[in-house]
Formats: sequence, C-alpha cells, structure tokens
Amino acid sequence: MTSQISIHLAGAAGMVTGSCTLCEAPEGRIAVDLGLIQGTPEQEADNPHLPIDRPDWLDAVVITHAHADHCGRLPMLARTGFDAPILATPATIDLLPHVLHASARLQQRLADEAQRFGMSPRPILFERDDVDRVCELLEPLPFGKTVSVGKGMTVALHPVGHILGAASVLISNGAMRVLCSGDIGHAQGQPLPPPAPPPSADLVVMECTRGDTEDEILLPPEEQLARVLHDATIDEQVVVCPTFALGRSHQLLYRLATLSRQGRLGMPVMLDSMMASIVAPLHRQHADVISGECRTLVADDIDPLHFPELKKLHNRKQASVIKDLRGPALVMAGNGFGEGGPIVEHLIRWLPSRRGRILLAGYCMPGTVTGKLADDPPTIKLKGRRISVEAPIDRLDCFSGHADATQLEKWITGMRGDRPKVVLHHGDPAPRATFASRLADLGYEVCTPDRLEHIS
Ligand SMILES: [Zn+2]
Repeated sequence: MTSQISIHLAGAAGMVTGSCTLCEAPEGRIAVDLGLIQGTPEQEADNPHLPIDRPDWLDAVVITHAHADHCGRLPMLARTGFDAPILATPATIDLLPHVLHASARLQQRLADEAQRFGMSPRPILFERDDVDRVCELLEPLPFGKTVSVGKGMTVALHPVGHILGAASVLISNGAMRVLCSGDIGHAQGQPLPPPAPPPSADLVVMECTRGDTEDEILLPPEEQLARVLHDATIDEQVVVCPTFALGRSHQLLYRLATLSRQGRLGMPVMLDSMMASIVAPLHRQHADVISGECRTLVADDIDPLHFPELKKLHNRKQASVIKDLRGPALVMAGNGFGEGGPIVEHLIRWLPSRRGRILLAGYCMPGTVTGKLADDPPTIKLKGRRISVEAPIDRLDCFSGHADATQLEKWITGMRGDRPKVVLHHGDPAPRATFASRLADLGYEVCTPDRLEHIS
C-alpha cells in the first residue's frame, strides 16, 4: 500500500542558503540537497548540526547542483558513515569535487588565520578525506532517466538552467509526486538554456530567491554590458565585478566572448578566480546540457567562454600585479557577494577612486557587501576598515543566475495538469511573502513553512 510523501524543510526556510529538503514515505527516505549555511555568524553557527541524525536513516541524497549552499555539507554526512548513493547529473558530479575540496581548503585557511591572529576560533566542518569519501558515493543520473530508491521511490532529474548540470528533482512513491525545484535559472542565462517547463507533480518545493524582483531587460545582456564597458573606456576606469565561480562568471565570460568576436570589447579582462577558470572548459565537455546557441559555437570549434583579451590569474602573485592596472580594464573576482576571497582586495583598491568603477551583475544579497553597495553608500566597511565609495556603481540584473518573479511564475504555470500545492523555500522573508501572495492570486495553494515544519 502506498501513502503520501511527507516533507520537512531542514534548511533554506525563510533564507537562501543551507538548502535541505527531507522527503519521507514508507517506501523510502530521500534528502534533496545538503547545503552549507552562508550568512551571519549566528546563522553559520548552525552548520555543525546536520539535520540527519543517523547515517542509515536515508536511502539516498540527491543534489540539485554544485553550489556550496546546496551541496556543501555532504562531506559531514560522509564523515558520519553514510554509505547510500548520492545522485546528481554527470556535470554536477564533475563539479562537486572541485567545490568541496575548495571548501575544505578555505575552512583550514580561515581556522589557521583565526588561530594566528587570536581571533575567535573558526570550525573545520570536514577535511580532504571526507570529500574523497563523498566522491566514492556519487552516482550519475542523466536528465531523462529514472532510478529506483529504497523500497519503491523513484527519482528523475529535469533541467532548470542556473549553472552547469543544475536540476529539479522529481520524487515519486506511486501515490504522490514531489518536485524540488532546485535553483531556477534566469531566462537570459547563457551559456545555459532557459529552465525547461517542469514535469507534473502534486507538490512543488520551489525556490523564490527573487520572488519580489522584476528585471527590466530592455537590451540584450551583451549590449547592457557593452554600455558599461564603453563608459569605462571613456573615463579610463578599471571595472571591478564581484562574481561567483560557478554561474555568474560564466554568464559574463560568454557575453564578453561575444563582444570580443564582434571586435567590441577593447580592454583586457582579468579573471581572478581559480575555480571559475577550472570550470569554464567543462561547459564544452557537457555540450548536451548547454544552450543550443552555445552548442553551435562548440560545434564550430569556437570556445564559447574564452577570448584573446582574457587573462586568467592563477595565484596571488599574478593577482597582485593588477593593483597597478590602468583603465580601461575589467577585473572579475570572487566572491559574488564581496564577503571574502580576492574581490575584497580589488574593492579596497578601487572603491575610493574615480578611476575605478563597480559592476554589480546579478543578485546582491541584502546585508552583504554587494547588497550594501547596491544602495550607493558614501562609505563601506571592508576588512575592519571604513572605505569611502568614490567609484561609480552600475547594476545589471540580467546577469542573475536566478529567475525573476515573472520568470518564476512562468516556470510554475508551465507545468501541465492540475495545479500543484506549492511550498516556498530558498527565499528571504520579503520575497517569499510577495511571491506567495502572487501565486495565491493565481489560485495556487501555497505554504511558507518554518524550518523543520512537517508538510504532507
Ligand atoms: Zn545555486
């Protein structure tokens, strides 16, 4: 006899990180995502507490995509003795080791620095061996294939744009179908296609990161980018752009490569992100999941994410040289919220100068450095120093990795069959409330549960 699948939001309830949704039925138990909480120190203090008590409780973990806020606590689970399959698309499986090893290295470095400088201790959540254990458990699940899990659950993955390999997860026990959206990509998310219409489901656990935002896309993204670069050329400025190593940097590289092929770039581009540099060529290797436009370039032996003006910086010594850079030039560096990584030095260098220009491309999380810069502040605090903000600031929302409110609505209303019940997660309280009332107006039954609240 089959019964309903019950759902717990074990993360990302009313916030945008730490994704984890537990799906439980007599036929099996599946976790969709097990992400790191990334936010204030108080929020991150929850990271050591895994939402899964016993490693043998789960029949499988399914990872929607390789962003750390969706996969970053997998090594902690592996450390507890978990030995069930971890399912993900082949592209996500290629990305995961890079992301998790980088996270282990970062934790070690931050812990060492905290000890050396007498700061409050930083936890080490996992180590290299734990990441290796995760890699042993990974099982590829390509789009369009269905696998059995537990005693009668099935799992299938569906493309959703966002980053290379990103997927929605459809779980069924025969009586009920649950769709976990994962992060829903932007309609203009080249080199990836726009999100595919979702498969039919009875209940959808849906992200709503930008559920209160509408993008004004009056011009194609490369034209918007060309305008900013044109202004920087006239004023001989160094454009500093905070990017994420997975997703946003590749969206920008794709449009920059287009401008370069058209002979309209006209400035050097520095990519100060090892991870972004490593991941860019993987798009060619996974040509089956990139956009048709991008696939055509690959078929013509054109690298869609490379161009002659691009210089990839592979170490801090190379990066230090660009302190003396003269405009016009573009520097892209992680992380995308300006909350750490090489971008901080670039911001400290160029924010106080009219020879600098800041490009905020995509979502700026409220409270983070980019979130504060988006409000055009006279000063900002970086590394404990108060920095004056003299550089002009441009915003280009078309480079977001996330769908805006209209695109989110288009995604859910693109589902065939009866309207599903919708559980909104992965959104701060304001966008979640706004998008919930938008869906309710369309006739959907919507709920916005607290963390660990039981839904069935
Ligand atoms: Zn993501």
